[in-house]
Order: sequence, then C-alpha cells, then structure tokens
Amino acid sequence: MTDEQQKPGVLYLVATPIGNLEDITYRAVKVLNEVDFIAAEDTRHSLKLLNHLGIAKPMTSYFEHNIRQKGEYITEKILAGETAALISDAGTPAISDPGEDLVRLCHEKGIRVIPIPGAVAGINALICSGLSTSRFSFEGFLSVNKKSRLDHLMSVKDSPYTLIFYEAPHKLQNTLKDMLETFGDRDITIARELTKKYEEIIPTTLRQAKEYYSSNEPKGEYVLVISGAEPVKAENELNALNLLDHLSFYINQGIEKKEAIKKVAQDRGVSRREIYNQTMKKE
Ligand code: SAM
Repeated sequence: MTDEQQKPGVLYLVATPIGNLEDITYRAVKVLNEVDFIAAEDTRHSLKLLNHLGIAKPMTSYFEHNIRQKGEYITEKILAGETAALISDAGTPAISDPGEDLVRLCHEKGIRVIPIPGAVAGINALICSGLSTSRFSFEGFLSVNKKSRLDHLMSVKDSPYTLIFYEAPHKLQNTLKDMLETFGDRDITIARELTKKYEEIIPTTLRQAKEYYSSNEPKGEYVLVISGAEPVKAENELNALNLLDHLSFYINQGIEKKEAIKKVAQDRGVSRREIYNQTMKKE
C-alpha cells in the first residue's frame, strides 16, 4: 500500500464505469483489490467488471429489495473489523442506485464512509449539454405512475435551474410528451449512451425531441438535461412586447392558447375578444 493505508471498519463507496471500462480510477482498482468484501447491486453483473480488472473478492448482493437485512449484515461485518466496498451496476453508488440507506446506517453505527469518486451519467450529460451548469437540479427517474410523474414535473416547472433526469428508453416517448405539456417548449440536450460506441449528445428542443422520437424508436441509456424556467417577467415588461410575443411568452410556458389569450388580456387591461381578433388576424 502507498499513501493510503487500508482503514479497518470502513465502507468505501466506489464509482465504476457507466459504459467504457477504462473509466475506472487507479484508486478505485486499488480499493477494490484491498477490501475484505464487495457489496454489489447485481453480483453477476459486477463480476464481469471484477474479472476484467483481475480482482477476485468475496461478494454479497445489496439491492432495492434486500436493503434492510443486507444493511445489517454488511454493517455487522464492518463493525467486526472488515472493510467493504459498495459498487452499483454503473456509475456512482447512491445516485439513483442503492447506497443511501447503507450510508445512513453506517452513520448511525459510527462507521466511517469514504467516497472513491468517478463517473456519474447526469454530471457528464450536464457538462456536455451547453445549458447552464452554474446551478442545476438532479431529478433522477420519474415515476412510472402517471399522476406521480406529472406531480414531479409540476413541482419543478417553475425552477430556474437546469434540470437533469434519467430515463429508460421504453419510457422516453411518454416522458418527452409529458415534459412538453408541462414545461412548454424548452431547450433540451439528450445525452445517449455516454462513453459507449453509439454515444450521442443532441442539443434540441422539447417539441423537436418529441416529434423525432414519435417516429424513431429510442435505444440505449438516456439522460435528459432541460433548461430551467425563464424568470417570470414583470407585467410592464410583458406589455412592452408586441402582442404575438406576449402571447408566445405564455404559450411557451405550456399554457393553452385560450388561457394565454385570457392572461394577455388581463395584463393589458383589454377584452379577450380584442386580443383574439388581433392575434388571429396576424397568424
Ligand atoms: N449510479 C448511476 C450514475 O452514477 O449515473 C446511475 C444509475 S441509474 C440506475 C441508471 C440510469 O443512468 C440510466 O437509466 C440512464 O438514465 C443513466 N445512465 C447510466 N449510464 C448511462 C450512459 N452511459 N449514458 C446515458 N445515460 C446513462
């Protein structure tokens, strides 16, 4: 061992690649080689990586449905003096992957937790997105339940921060449709198959993305990075716009045309009919 002596009674959270096997750090390999055992989300899946690295270690599974009993098992072994590494199927443990509960349990039991940094799909999608990176909100996966999914989208609709979502290919079309309906048309960068052979970074808009994927089957792994909401304009700023731009301002937020006409009329203190007549004539 070099600078870092293996610490007894420690849980290491070790990031693994999100596609390209070369994206593992020297430190990650060293820690995986030195720990007493490795807890993995899917032991069979992780065995391929460990074989590739030439690492043979006792393994135990740690996944969504055995978190409680395995959490106890893993922490008992650590308290008995063993060191453990937690890895997930890809990327950083505890990011849309198991790990959060185990870390909490370690804190409760006074076990030291050490991160071994590496790939996170969402952060790599963000840095290639061309959208604001100064403030962002990681939103993980949307629920499969329609109501929960829409509630989630509504809860971030007005957020000014760049939004990062994970999505599975078979849900992508529905998700883009729901996002367009909730957010209105916004810039989106679709990051697909990061670090892999068919990697793509596609800067586009929600409307174009929805149209594209309605006739092209999504394949692979996706991160969706979406620009935050425009700051709400003051009424006098809106009234300084021409009528069509004023109307588009609301429509681009996903508001129905009829409702948008009503809002413009309210802002300008004129009748809905007047707005309707003037904007319809210009269309
Ligand atoms: N812990 C992982 C991380 O650090 O990013 C995330 C695991 S989560 C279960 C899997 C999701 O991450 C996928 O459905 C996809 O949205 C995203 N993802 C993982 N690998 C990816 C890749 N190579 N390209 C694009 N998205 C990826």
